[in-house]
Parts: sequence; structure tokens; C-alpha cells
Amino acid sequence: MNRPILASIHIEAFRHNLARVRALAPEAKTWSVVKAAAYGHRLESILEGLKETDGFALLDLRDAQWLRNQGWQGRILLLEGLFEPEELAQAVSLDCDLVVHCQEQVVLLERLAQHSSHAFQVFLKLNSGMNRLGFSPTTYRDMYHRLHSLGHQVHHMTHFANADAVDQKPTVGEQMDCFSTATNGLAGETCLANSAAILWHRTALGDWVRPGIMLYGLSPTGIHADIEHAHLQPVMSLTSEIIDIQHLAAGEHVGYGGRFTAPEAMRIGVIACGYADGYPRHAPDGTPVWVESNGTGAICPIAGRVSMDMITVDLRNAPNAQIGSRVELWGQKVPADTVAAAAGTIGYELICALAPRVPVELIRKS
Ligand SMILES: *Cc1c(COP(=O)(O)O)cnc(C)c1O
Repeated sequence: MNRPILASIHIEAFRHNLARVRALAPEAKTWSVVKAAAYGHRLESILEGLKETDGFALLDLRDAQWLRNQGWQGRILLLEGLFEPEELAQAVSLDCDLVVHCQEQVVLLERLAQHSSHAFQVFLKLNSGMNRLGFSPTTYRDMYHRLHSLGHQVHHMTHFANADAVDQKPTVGEQMDCFSTATNGLAGETCLANSAAILWHRTALGDWVRPGIMLYGLSPTGIHADIEHAHLQPVMSLTSEIIDIQHLAAGEHVGYGGRFTAPEAMRIGVIACGYADGYPRHAPDGTPVWVESNGTGAICPIAGRVSMDMITVDLRNAPNAQIGSRVELWGQKVPADTVAAAAGTIGYELICALAPRVPVELIRKS
């Protein structure tokens, strides 16, 4: 028997979530953000689940190459542009669109123009207050004209720092004011909203939206309750099985460091999933795991430290659970955001950290 851990990717949920993006931003085109192996869901899954998108936004030319090899003819946006001059030829041959966020990248395109007439679709990035990537408002217009004079189609992009928060500075409104001033009168499409802006700032969408986390059915805030109104569906379920059961007497301890102590005689279920699979090692006792028990199931709390290949749960809520009983670590019964919150992080980090050793299966019916 294979080790029973499995990440199931629900293709219908991808389609549903993309349709939700379209409903929330009906005028906009969509860059589906698929960096980090499609937030851990693997690129294989997006060609089926997100094929209705207008384009894929990602970081690595390697991934762009893979998509072209699979026959993807739609647009591809390199979200951080080119990292070194050697990538230019490949970006041309793969027909990628480029983000340009620093002067070195502008110079690179000026050099290209000396021996090539290739015109890119460039998304020029404005630093409107997040202070991560992009040109300051004072240099932005100059860069725009330099790229425009080379014959490229130049569009306008910025990224919001706080679209998932209330009153945190810079606010979406402040960044929008900066963007409007910097781009005033310049031709080109606009590309603005991440998932949080699509959900909560519908006046700041732009001609192109850039959803990531909401396509995967998780919350930009890391709090599951915040997206309940949006009717998104989780795309990934991480499941496994109980591979052993221990019968403890009151006062006995579980696992490394003996973190959990049995308050009474009880059963402990040992599950084939550990931090080497991407389960957060910091998950404390009490973190919910769904355990199948006689056709239905129950939430069973983690009891004892997460180890490399296993976790241990308190089976008192699942009296019928036995070796071979199925468990869900996150997905449909337990939101990834809820597990993440218990471990002091957000769902993004959990799904992106799904380990390569975990097999992935595409599920085509909901
Ligand atoms: C990752 C990323 C996104 C997607 O953000 P979500 O919060 O996952 O929707 C959008 N734009 C840029 C520039 C990104 O790097």
C-alpha cells in the first residue's frame, strides 16, 4: 500500500471561483496568478481548472515554457519581469508579457531595441505606497515615455498593500490617488486588484484584475469567516489516513517532548502527515483535524507535537475511528485558513508549502 496522504484538486471549484471573480469584476480581464506552482496546487491543475482565464501571471520562465509546451496559447505575464539579460530571448520566443519595475529592466529593453523590433505588452509598475516593487511617482512618467518610444505597448500596474485591512496605511484610496496622478493622461490599460481588492474594493479593479488566493478558495485575510459571503470553494483537500492507534492511560504523554498528557484513559490516532508534507509544525494541541468515523466524521484535536511524517490526534470525538479511517487535514471540512490560524500563519503559506512528496490527484466532478 502507498502512504495514504493525498492532495485532491477539485477542478470544478477552480471553475466556480474564476466565475466568482468574473461576477465581481465583470468589466475586467483576469490574470490568474499561478506563481509558486499555482499556490501549491501544481501547474497541471490550472490548464483544466482555469483555462477560461484571459491569462496566467507567474514568476519563472520555466513555468511559461511549460505552459507553452502544453499548448497554452493565451497570454502569460511575468510578474517580476526579467531577472537577467539572458532571459530576454526566451521571453520573446515564448511571447510573454512583462512587468517592468526597475530602471535596469528599462535599459535591457533599450538594448534589445538595437537589434530587435519585438514589441512587448509591458505592465509598468508604479510604487504607489507599498514600497516593494515599482517606480516612484516622480520617475514613472519618464519610464513610460522611454518604453513607449521603443514601440512597446505600455500599461499601468500597481499593487495594494492593505486591500484586506481597514484604515491601515497606505489605504487603497491613497494608493489610487497616487496612481491616478502618476498615470494621468497616459494611454494604456490599468492592472490593479489582487483578491482582497476584488472582494472589498470594487472601485479599484482596473482593466485587468490579478486574483490569486480567491481562485484557490481561501481568504486574503487568512480568516475563513471573511470570505463566507463570497461563496468561494476550496480547491485543495489534503487527506490521509490513520495508520496506528495508541491506548493511553491517564497521565501518559504523547510524542516528542510529551507535549500532550492524557487527562483520562483515551485513544490517540496516528496520521500519515507531518511537517515534511507541508503540515505546519507549529500547530498547537487543539488544532482541528477531521476524522471519519462510521460514515460521518468528527473534528479531532491535535494532541502532541507535529513530527516529520506523522501527527497525533485525540480520538475521543471519533469513537469508531480505526486504522484506515480517512482524515482531512484541510479542505472541505476544515478550512486551510483555520488550520493556519491555529498555527499562527495564513492559508497562503500552508497551501504554497505543500511538499513535492505529496501526490496530487485532479478531481473532475464536484
Ligand atoms: C501574488 C500576487 C497577486 C495575487 O495576490 P492574492 O492576494 O493571492 O490575490 C497579485 N498581484 C501580484 C503582483 C502578486 O505578486
